[in-house]
Formats: sequence, structure tokens, C-alpha cells
Amino acid sequence: MKERIHKDVVIIGAGMAGLTAALYCGRMNLDTLVLENAIIGGQIANATDIENFPGLASVSGKDLISALQRQTESFGAVIDEFDEIERVTLKTSPKIVETQEKIYEADAVIIASGMNRRKIPLAEGRKFETRGVHYCELCDGHAYAGKIVAVMGGGNAAVDAANFLTKYAEKIYLIHRSELRADEVSQKRLFANKKITVMLQTEIKALRGDKRLEEIEIFDKVSGVTKVIAVDGIFVNIGVEPNTKLFSDELTLSASGRIVAGEDCRTEIAGVFAAGDVREKEIRQLTTAASDGTTAALLAEKYLSKLHG
Ligand SMILES: Cc1cc2nc3c(=O)[nH]c(=O)nc-3n(C[C@H](O)[C@H](O)[C@H](O)COP(=O)(O)OP(=O)(O)OC[C@H]3O[C@@H](n4cnc5c(N)ncnc54)[C@H](O)[C@@H]3O)c2cc1C
Repeated sequence: MKERIHKDVVIIGAGMAGLTAALYCGRMNLDTLVLENAIIGGQIANATDIENFPGLASVSGKDLISALQRQTESFGAVIDEFDEIERVTLKTSPKIVETQEKIYEADAVIIASGMNRRKIPLAEGRKFETRGVHYCELCDGHAYAGKIVAVMGGGNAAVDAANFLTKYAEKIYLIHRSELRADEVSQKRLFANKKITVMLQTEIKALRGDKRLEEIEIFDKVSGVTKVIAVDGIFVNIGVEPNTKLFSDELTLSASGRIVAGEDCRTEIAGVFAAGDVREKEIRQLTTAASDGTTAALLAEKYLSKLHG
């Protein structure tokens, strides 16, 4: 029989959003548990140079997250990275979060389970990650001033990434294996920009380089010709996978699979909040994840005060 434990707040996910929420909840003396099923820090855990976190000129993901974890734990929040969630029941009071080992009865739940970007489906992708292979143009695009980059993908995210990268790069190849799916306005901007060459019906077959990415091998499906082009970097935009499987029976998900909740992070179920990249919203950055974590925690505390009279 699993042990049943009561918590004021259970937070799912120990990325920037979840840790920030835990920091605030702990400081408000709420009995707070964070459940993490992979590595503490989430998407940013292994990033090398973060240069847009206010107040820090440059910081690694590891250092930023370690500092945040220490700060969070100093206020009493407990982080459990070993016990995996099997199911959740959110519409009841208390809400139930059942892990492999325990059953948590939580008065409020903050979902901060984030998302994973789809990785480039090539073996060398990992070797060059952060050394030419990137998944976030807002984060890493500035490093390519005056350089040649490729963008992989054909949806809105890829086309917007190519358009955005024209701020920095001298030349951009947008490479996609079929036709573009991006909206008309973005496509118009794409084709109007002389820095961008669009290569459709083209597959990326290999990444090459010594210590860093230096060139990519591409295959034109129409002509049947294989070519090698020199690039300094590639920004992969072939979709994301929000971590929302656990919640899909109880919460409304957007077309992209994220949890539908407003800027106040409240979901359709009272006492359940969605914070960070898992929430349907336009901008996904560390600062917006921290902002969501703050909002969710403060409004969870308000909810609990009312609940307990
Ligand atoms: C390579 C890279 C570089 C980036 N660089 C920057 C940058 O320089 N500046 C910037 O502002 N933004 C950057 N970003 C974006 C930024 O990382 C995200 O916007 C931010 O980390 C989102 O935080 P989050 O807490 O919402 O989600 P995540 O970071 O995705 O964290 C979610 C956490 O929840 C956990 N989780 C998922 N499912 C479960 C479950 N069922 N049970 C328990 N835990 C679960 C995950 O393991 C993860 O630890 C970068 C992103 C990437 C991929």
C-alpha cells in the first residue's frame, strides 16, 4: 500500500517555472513539493551561455539552476527527482498526484512540465549541439553575426526563425523536406529578404565538421542531386513536444498540445495552475517562465487562503 501524504502545493517539473513557483510557495510557508522526472533545470540545464537573464551578463544553465535550486530549498520547498508520477486526478478536492511510491493529496497543483524540442534526427546532431546545432534562435542567434546559418523546418516557427536570424547572419538557408506550412505574412517576409535562400523538397542528410559544425549535406528530392553547403550553424525548428500527456484527460489542450490557461496561469480547474512553456502562450523564455512561476505561486496561495477560510 502506498503512503498517503498531504501537501499544500505539488509542483510538477523543476525547470525555471517550477523552481520559481517553489521558491515563492516556500517563502509563503506553504508545504511545497516539486516532482521532477528528469534533470533539475529542464531545457536550460545544459545551456552554456545565457546572456539575456536580467542582471547576469553571462551565466551557464548549470550555474543559474544550481543557484536557483539552493535558493528554493533554503525556503523549505522539497524537490524529489526520483519518484515518477503515474497519474493525476485534478478535479477532486484534494487533488491527487500518484507516484510510483506515494500518493500525494494536494490542495493546489502547479503544472510546470515544460516541453521538449524535437531533436534533429541525425546521429551527429548531439555531437554538435551548442557547437553549431541550436534549438533556440532567440537565445543563440546573436552568436552568428555576419555568419552563414541554416534553418531546418517549414512551419511558422522555422520561417519566423529564418526571418529573425536576418538580424545577425549574413546568409540564411531555409531548408525543408516538403512545402512550407507557415502563414502567408511570414512567407512573404521570407521570400522578400535577399539574405534568405529557400530550399524546399530538400532533405538534410548529414552534418559534418571537426570540433564544430562546418557543413551540411543536402539532397534535392526533385532533381535527385546531393550537395554540400558550408554553414556555421543550424537552427532546428521541426516541432516541439509539450509534456502534457498526464493531463490530457482533465485539462483542455491547445492545437499545439499545450495547456490552455490565461496570463494568470489559472486553468479551467480551480486550484490547478499552468506555468512556463507548458502553457499556451506566444513567448517562451526563462524570464517568462519565471514570471509564470511567480504568478502561479501567488495565486495558488490566494486560492489556498480562501479554501482554508
Ligand atoms: C538549448 C536551449 C537554449 C535556451 N536558451 C535560452 C536563453 O539563453 N534564454 C532564455 O530566456 N531562454 C532560453 N531557452 C528557452 C528556455 O529554456 C525555456 O523557455 C525555459 O527553460 C522554460 O522553462 P519551464 O520551466 O517552463 O520548462 P522546462 O525547462 O521545459 O522544464 C520543465 C521540467 O519539467 C520536467 N517534467 C516534464 N514532465 C514531467 C513529469 N511528468 N513529472 C515531473 N517532471 C516533469 C522536465 O523534466 C523539466 O525539468 C533555451 C531553450 C533551449 C532548448
